[in-house]
Amino acid sequence: MAGTKTLTMIKPDAVRDGHIGAILNQINEAGFRISAMKLTQLSQADAEAFYAVHSERPFYGELVEFMTSGPIVAAILEKENAVEDFRKLIGATNPAEAAEGTIRARFAKSIGENAVHGSDSDENAEIEGDFHFAGREQF
Ligand code: ATP
Ligand code: MG
Repeated sequence: MAGTKTLTMIKPDAVRDGHIGAILNQINEAGFRISAMKLTQLSQADAEAFYAVHSERPFYGELVEFMTSGPIVAAILEKENAVEDFRKLIGATNPAEAAEGTIRARFAKSIGENAVHGSDSDENAEIEGDFHFAGREQF
């Protein structure tokens, strides 16, 4: 059975541009329940660990620099088939390729500064949820 949980981050570009409310509204209207949420800022070590899977990629340094450049909103979202449905809602990594009306089509600036994160598997959703939230912060 598909999992019911995914982890999102509203990235520093979208927070800076004042899009927290519009993005959370779109998430709610798509039927996701917010079961944990906070405004926080990743340290260098946090961002390196979170994106460790990309450490050999040419954009890793730029990605870590961007993700630590300002506050983010981290949230756990719940819904049937959460991972796949949320990735559909946010659209392709590159906003130029993101379907019309998706969060990245509406709010992302570039493939690097792309407004939101969504977990890519049920297993990573669990790991990423626990990365950001203690058990008593998950409802
Ligand atoms: P995310 O994991 O943030 O939800 P994603 O799963 O769509 O995004 P990944 O392949 O996991 O994409 O890449 C992680 C992040 O690294 C992207 O969201 C983007 O910010 C950055 N990134 C990916 N590819 C590039 C690239 N070619 N140039 C610059 N940054 C990139
Ligand atoms: Mg990813």
